[in-house]
Amino acid sequence: MQTSEKSNNNISNNNNPEINKFDKQLKGFDPKKPPKQELIDACVHCGFCLSTCPSYRVIGKEMDSPRGRIYLMDAINKQDAALTKATTQHFDTCLGCLACVSTCPSGVQYDKLISATRPQVERNQPRNLLDKIIRFVIFNLFPYPLRLRLLLPILWLYQNIGLQKIIRATGILKISPRIAAMESILPKITKDSFQDKLPEIIPPQGEKRYRVGVVLGCVQRLFFSPVNEATVRVLTANGCEVVIPKTQGCCAALPSHQGQEKQAQTLAKQMIDSFANTDVDYIIINAAGCGHTLKEYAHILEDDIEYREKAKAFTAKVRDSQEFLMEVGFTANLTPLTDGELKIVYQDACHLLHGQKISLQPRQLLRKIPQVTLKEPIDAALCCGSAGVYNMLQPDVANELGQQKVDNLLNTGANLIASPNPGCALQILKHLNLKGKEIMVKHPMELLDSSIRGIKLKDNSK
Ligand code: SF4
Ligand code: SF4
Repeated sequence: MQTSEKSNNNISNNNNPEINKFDKQLKGFDPKKPPKQELIDACVHCGFCLSTCPSYRVIGKEMDSPRGRIYLMDAINKQDAALTKATTQHFDTCLGCLACVSTCPSGVQYDKLISATRPQVERNQPRNLLDKIIRFVIFNLFPYPLRLRLLLPILWLYQNIGLQKIIRATGILKISPRIAAMESILPKITKDSFQDKLPEIIPPQGEKRYRVGVVLGCVQRLFFSPVNEATVRVLTANGCEVVIPKTQGCCAALPSHQGQEKQAQTLAKQMIDSFANTDVDYIIINAAGCGHTLKEYAHILEDDIEYREKAKAFTAKVRDSQEFLMEVGFTANLTPLTDGELKIVYQDACHLLHGQKISLQPRQLLRKIPQVTLKEPIDAALCCGSAGVYNMLQPDVANELGQQKVDNLLNTGANLIASPNPGCALQILKHLNLKGKEIMVKHPMELLDSSIRGIKLKDNSK
């Protein structure tokens, strides 16, 4: 590892061959909202963040650490370096997990720095053809549940007529590690994937305490609809009238995390509009990454005169489902999920733990379930490698992190993994599969729902 002074000089003097390799372009960021110099200057280069950075853990290079990326931003901001293919790759390897924000003793707002850098990369750094195609597919398909749903029959056939087994056996997917990565985390298509079953308004059980909106998510809605249904039942069992506007689309997490500013702004405005006039006290989300983005709307729309204030009002109502239940008080009765002790390991999703500082509430809720013992894995705060679409765009780093995460979860001896984010759940399931391990992976809302309804885990299919 380089010392901070050495790294800094390398960049400031522009002698770093790695940075200059492709440096044929104008130096500096473009003038549209580059990373703020005062935020860059807050970094004192102490290096405390390095050990908690997943990309640095796997790649082992200073430039793939928070400190290294801040050096790069500084050099580009001061026009000592250019935004080139070589510099871009170090921003691309960042998972956006925000572990460095939690770790930094100087309060460096790396989240703001990387979210200002990503749109600069997208505007100014041309991608190669395959990269363009993969990104086009991701950004034009995943945030649009209706488009994704049109593909479901093909995906269902792929999984159910033996094509998937044949394709995997031929090894043809290995030609492109990214396409192989996309295919490897394809969730199981079930009959639930084909339609939204939840009505627009669901009454509370017993006396009404709150009127809450629920965000369904796009991937969550199609591939994890039982999680949404469980969330709604848990909310109604706790005295909530639930409102689910049918016009809602994607929360904008995917384009926002990848620097696709315009698309993120459009989707955020659609989401705000869909909850306008619903008169809800809170807006509830059960997916960690989506929740973090919903809470960022005021920032995403800060330059939009029409939506700036609406975004602030929307964001003030957003709560993660677990955060909400602990905030207002969990009132439903809970029953054991198994006849004996149930050992659960809770997997911290980065956008809950680091992005929203939510780690106690899920554990407090799970501990309320009778006969549950919570286990803690080592490196609980380290990303599993999912990170939105990171595991499709950077499969090598993601696979290494996925393996480490699954090993750490399994080593706790738990019988069940509780995961609060669909992307993390898919990543964990993929690596459990690769290891030939069968262990249940459930969202905490599913566990609370079963516990409220008196359904034992082995009877979960009922
Ligand atoms: S980001 Fe924070 S922890 Fe990391 S090197 Fe800078 S000051 Fe130190
Ligand atoms: S966001 Fe995560 S991957 Fe990116 S620099 Fe910070 S700790 Fe490293």
